Amino acid sequence: MSQQFLADSFGRAITYLRLSVTDRCDLRCTYCMSEAMTFLPKRDVLSLEELERLSVAFISRGVRKIRLTGGEPLVRRDIMTLLRRLSRRLGTGLDEITLTTNATQLARHADELADIGVKRINVSLDTLDDAKFKRLTRRAMLGKVLNGIEAAQAAGLKIKINTVALKGVNEDEIPSLIDWAHQRGIDVTLIEVMPLGEIEEDRVDQYLPLTAVRDALEARWTLEPTALKTGGPARYVRVAETGGVVGFISPLTNNFCADCNRVRITCTGKIYMCLGHDDHIDLRAALRGQQPDEALNAALDAAMARKPERHDFDISSRGAAPAVTRHMSMTGG
Ligand code: SAM
Ligand code: SF4
Repeated sequence: MSQQFLADSFGRAITYLRLSVTDRCDLRCTYCMSEAMTFLPKRDVLSLEELERLSVAFISRGVRKIRLTGGEPLVRRDIMTLLRRLSRRLGTGLDEITLTTNATQLARHADELADIGVKRINVSLDTLDDAKFKRLTRRAMLGKVLNGIEAAQAAGLKIKINTVALKGVNEDEIPSLIDWAHQRGIDVTLIEVMPLGEIEEDRVDQYLPLTAVRDALEARWTLEPTALKTGGPARYVRVAETGGVVGFISPLTNNFCADCNRVRITCTGKIYMCLGHDDHIDLRAALRGQQPDEALNAALDAAMARKPERHDFDISSRGAAPAVTRHMSMTGG
C-alpha cells in the first residue's frame, strides 16, 4: 500500500482538502444555482462514516487542513458529529478544521464549533442591504446571517468574509461592506464570479473584474502591500485607514495555479483535481468496493498523476456554455 505524501506531477504538495458534505442549501444565490435546483437523492451522498474515512485517508497522506463546504455544510443534520470526530485528529497530523458557510445556521452551532477546536471560519456575504440580499439569495435571511456572525465572534471564532463582486449588484457597496467588516475585526476577501454550472443569468452580465474594484478602493483608501500568504489563490493588501485586510481572488484576470496545494471532493465522493476542469476520479467506488484502503490509496495516486498544471476558465464570450458544467455547490467553494 502506498503511504507517500500526496504530491502532483508538477511537484506541488497537496496538503489542503476541501470536502463538500452536501449539495443542499437554504439559499439560492443567483450566481451559484437556479431557483429550481434539483438536489441529489440521499443515497448518492457519502455517509458520515464515508466522509470520515476519506478524511482520515487524506490526513494519513499528508493533508493538514480540511475545509468542509457544500452546498451549505450546516444544513447537513449530522455535520457536528463529523466535525467532532475529525477534531480528534487535530495535533496528530491535522493542523486545522474549518468550514465555509452562508451563516444562516451559524448562531446555533457557534459555541460547539469553538468547543471542538475550530478556530476560523469563512462566511460568504455579498451585501448588507436587506432587499438586495433577498434578491441575490432569493431568501430573506440577512438577519439570521448577521446573528450568526455575531454569535461566532462571541464564541471566539475568527471570521473572514468572502464576497463575490457582482457588476451592478454589490459593486457600489463593496467599500462600505469592507468598512463594516473591518470595524468588527473581520477581514474580507473579494472573489470574481466564475463560470461554473448553468444558471438563469448570463455570467458576462455578472462579471466584475477585481482590477476595477481595486481601483475604486484605491481612490478611497491607502492600500498597503502585505506579506500575508495563505498558500491559496488570494493576494492581500492592508487598508491603512481601517487596519483591516482585503484579499483578492481573481481566477480570470490573474493566474494563481502555480501555488496550488488543494483538491476538492464532492458530496458524492468524486475528487476534482482542479476547480476549472471536469476531470475527476470516483472515490466512492473505491470506498464501497473490495479492499477499500488499497483502492483508495491507488485512486489518490491516480488523482495526483492527473492534476492539471492550471485551469482554463474563459468568461469572455457572451452566451457561452459554462467552462465547467457542474455548479460550485457540487464541488464546494
Ligand atoms: N454555502 C456556503 C457558502 O455560501 O459559503 C459554502 C458553499 S459556496 C458554493 C462557497 C463559495 O462559493 C461562496 O463564497 C460563494 O459565494 C462562492 N460561489 C458560488 N458560486 C460561485 C461562482 N459561480 N463564482 C464565484 N464564486 C462562487
Ligand atoms: Fe448556497 Fe453557498 Fe451557493 Fe449561496 S453560494 S446558493 S449559500 S451554496
